[in-house]
Amino acid sequence: MKISFLGLGAIGTPMAAHLARAHELTVWNRTTERARVFSEQHSARLAETPRDAAGGAEIVITCLPTSREVESVLEGPDGMETALARGTLLVDCTSGDPASSRRIAARLDTRGVGFIDAPVSGGTDGAVAAALTVMVGGEAPDVERAMPILALFGKRIEHLGPVGAGHATKAINNALLAVNIAAVGEGAAALARAGVNLEKAFAVLNASSGRSFVSEKLVPERVLTGLWPRTFRLALLEKDVGIACAMLDELNVDGPLIELARELFRQARLELGESADYLEIIKLIEQQAGVELRT
Ligand code: NDP
Repeated sequence: MKISFLGLGAIGTPMAAHLARAHELTVWNRTTERARVFSEQHSARLAETPRDAAGGAEIVITCLPTSREVESVLEGPDGMETALARGTLLVDCTSGDPASSRRIAARLDTRGVGFIDAPVSGGTDGAVAAALTVMVGGEAPDVERAMPILALFGKRIEHLGPVGAGHATKAINNALLAVNIAAVGEGAAALARAGVNLEKAFAVLNASSGRSFVSEKLVPERVLTGLWPRTFRLALLEKDVGIACAMLDELNVDGPLIELARELFRQARLELGESADYLEIIKLIEQQAGVELRT
């Protein structure tokens, strides 16, 4: 199949690599050098513009920071919109926002182009291992058509409802992740200050009812070890919690916890900058508490 992939970032690159092994792949990236290196390593065609990537493709995949960038690669003289042939399917793997996705889908529908939202979870390791969870929103025939492609990088692929349902679920997942990271960081800082052995404390927490993916995996492997790998930008998680807040607002659901997590991550983004990793918010908790969470 002729597939085009736009957005060779931290997670897009390993996802696209799986596609290159199975299909005729074209890639486009804002910074051309990244796309050039990818195209050489994976024998993919290098597109000069989003429009060039769209021409001749049966399925186009976007994996960009937000829905704003997805709209921007559709628009303008170099944009994809007018080059997408009738019957093409746009699969948006960006963690985007449901309202924008519905707008994009309606716009493409007038041109006979399908759209599904298919954001992913599982991190860069999950992408390399082709073990991502894919949260899909869209019309059933479009979702069915995309399934074999999504299966090249996804292990659990769930069709959650109409367009926007994938992005809605992803935003709520990441809001829960953000609440958890802040809570585990605060709790661990208190235990460190209380002189509790952190290795033993985490072993106990992880055998008890307070455990979570953050306490079982992320903090022990990345914080307590002092490794702090950069895999997912804090700025992107803050964006996701913002999408969740907008959803709650629109749906008239009070969300003081999620709102507070948004504010904490917004402040952290300002302090730590655009390239900081999402777990680095725990560095701010460490600083405030005057402790280092290490075993
Ligand atoms: P990165 O920041 O690593 O990469 C972003 C990509 O988008 C790059 O290819 C970048 O191009 C491109 N881009 C940025 N701005 C623009 C623009 N204005 N126009 C066109 N292209 C642009 O992000 P990730 O790969 O980490 O994330 C991509 C999406 O996947 C996000 O929505 C994120 O929330 C989500 N996600 C990420 C996960 C992770 O573990 N990293 C996990 C799950 C979801 P350039 O090379 O020029 O900078």
